[in-house]
Amino acid sequence: MKEATKYIHAGAEPDPSTGAIMTPIYQTSTYVQEAPGKNKGYEYARSQNPTRTALEKAFAVIENAKYALAFSSGVAATDAVIKLLEPGDEVVCGNDMYGGTYRLFTKVFEKFGIKFIYVDTTNVSTISKAITSKTKLIWLETPTNPLMNITDIAAVAALTKPKKILLAVDNTFASPFLQNPIDLGADIVMHSVTKYLGGHSDVIQGSLMMDSLELRDKLYFIQKSCGAVPGPMDCFLVLRGIKTLHVRMKAHCENGAKIAHWLKKHKKIGKVYWPGFEDHPGHAVAKKQMRDFGGMLSFVLKNDSIEEAMRVLSSTKLFSLAESLGGVESLINHPASMTHASIPKEERIKNGLSDSLIRLSVGIEDADDLIADLEQAIG
Ligand SMILES: *Cc1c(COP(=O)(O)O)cnc(C)c1O
Repeated sequence: MKEATKYIHAGAEPDPSTGAIMTPIYQTSTYVQEAPGKNKGYEYARSQNPTRTALEKAFAVIENAKYALAFSSGVAATDAVIKLLEPGDEVVCGNDMYGGTYRLFTKVFEKFGIKFIYVDTTNVSTISKAITSKTKLIWLETPTNPLMNITDIAAVAALTKPKKILLAVDNTFASPFLQNPIDLGADIVMHSVTKYLGGHSDVIQGSLMMDSLELRDKLYFIQKSCGAVPGPMDCFLVLRGIKTLHVRMKAHCENGAKIAHWLKKHKKIGKVYWPGFEDHPGHAVAKKQMRDFGGMLSFVLKNDSIEEAMRVLSSTKLFSLAESLGGVESLINHPASMTHASIPKEERIKNGLSDSLIRLSVGIEDADDLIADLEQAIG
């Protein structure tokens, strides 16, 4: 099935009871049973809900995976993956990643005896050196939030497969339209569905996709035991969002490229972080594993002035100053004080995340209007 058809038809079966073409919102907590233990496969809505089942089928299809699970948020999906581990286990992960993931690892799971080793994952030999007999999981983000660093997923999978170490990839920034980690050898794909999959800034949700039934069963057990499940209304919204993912992503990529090139030529702008540039250190790998370069980019002002950056951040009119990304409307963000404030300053600076860095989530408005807005804000 070609991409466009896949996104529109993924998981979509007419409702068996009425023929409704759109999956109904099964707003129910429980299901009436014919006799004790005799039911239609639905017992209690934390364990199963038909709207969620339809969405989970769609998630699997769009990530070329056999199975998928939906969670109440992206971090709840990540939380479920770490709950596969035991005290004493080690996780090797990136030193440039979503602040909330870092907070979950350091502030919640470290105290349960799980050790997280942060390395520069763009260099596969650095990952290799960090692996010990206790390493059970590699956690990758590519492109990273907010520095747009790229890690070669297939090269890391070649390292983890023979050692039976799980490889999980946070694919939020790319979306399934641009990158499919399962095809590249990853065991688990995680999405903050809140972003491109939902696509309309109206829902918080997460997902995990996988090919192994054993892994699916273990994660399903965690999903129902820990209970971070999304409600049926949210599942409905995401089913609707997925139908236009391909159309939206093409527009995000086109606008992202236009704005990246415009910023790069601007006399007041210093470095622009976007993997589509040939001089981006991860460009070759991005070109190999992604279909296009996406609508996320970051930049610093040439004079690296925090005051100037603050002025730009509060002067845009179309770009709204807000956390989050991946919606149809453009957002501007200051990682150091917003999305990545949970990472200590020394850690941030060491990993190249300067206090004057500005991140853009380029939406699908007209590119000329977006450029005019940035022009008046940068001055
Ligand atoms: C937003 C985000 C998350 C967390 O997802 P929530 O839906 O906000 O819980 C994880 N990873 C990345 C890359 C994100 O951008």
